[in-house]
Amino acid sequence: MKTIPFFLIGLSILAIAACAGSRTPAPRGDDPAPVVADDSACNPTPEPESERDPEPETPSHPGFIVTTGVHGNEPSGYLIKPDLEALGFTVYGPCNPWGIENNRRHLEDGRDLNRMFGRDDCPEAETIKQWLADNPPKFLLDLHEDPDGTAPYLIQHGPDDDIGRRIVDALKDEYEFDPEPQFMMVKGEDGLLNPDGKTLAMMAFMKIYGLGFYAWATYKCTAIVVECPGSWPEEKRKAYHLKVVKTAARLFEESND
Ligand SMILES: [Zn+2]
Repeated sequence: MKTIPFFLIGLSILAIAACAGSRTPAPRGDDPAPVVADDSACNPTPEPESERDPEPETPSHPGFIVTTGVHGNEPSGYLIKPDLEALGFTVYGPCNPWGIENNRRHLEDGRDLNRMFGRDDCPEAETIKQWLADNPPKFLLDLHEDPDGTAPYLIQHGPDDDIGRRIVDALKDEYEFDPEPQFMMVKGEDGLLNPDGKTLAMMAFMKIYGLGFYAWATYKCTAIVVECPGSWPEEKRKAYHLKVVKTAARLFEESND
């Protein structure tokens, strides 16, 4: 049997996160602030302020963290940030603002942000690490796109958790997941790549890893990279990410009840 050099195995694992989308980013601006009419001039008699119905209380999802825009040419996760925040989710992004602005996978300095979390000389990675320290995850989803992907799949960091499998199961009627997601030596099945402890330890040793790995290694939380084909229409990519986040939150919160 051929011996496969360690570094090749490691590189293949790293390739897992090596997705790059091809869509044109169209960052959505903030919604304009509601205009409150000043009708005092027409009403000499002060009246009780007519208040709009109070906003329904948004649900919150403590410890459930969503990150977006690590690769700037994979914008769909970032584009649903307002929708997620309206649902009470804690969302960070874009992790790579320059990349989103310029529709580029890499950082302005040419490096891949999703290889920088094992070092300390990447300002964007350090910013995200600090934000995570302020918002410590109990569970994390990192939203990506895979330009070469033909079907969606998940990459789970956290080998002892079955939530990735349960997310796929919950969505498989609606989405046809990649039956054999695979990158060189790392094989997944039925929409899920779930590197085992040995593989993850090797990635730690190499110190070239991404946000999902960092969150898992640092906070001992399950962290899942969510991938969908970059060739899907933008609305489909956005709808998929939104669906995955909502489903994951429901399953995560059910299991923590
Ligand atoms: Zn990516």
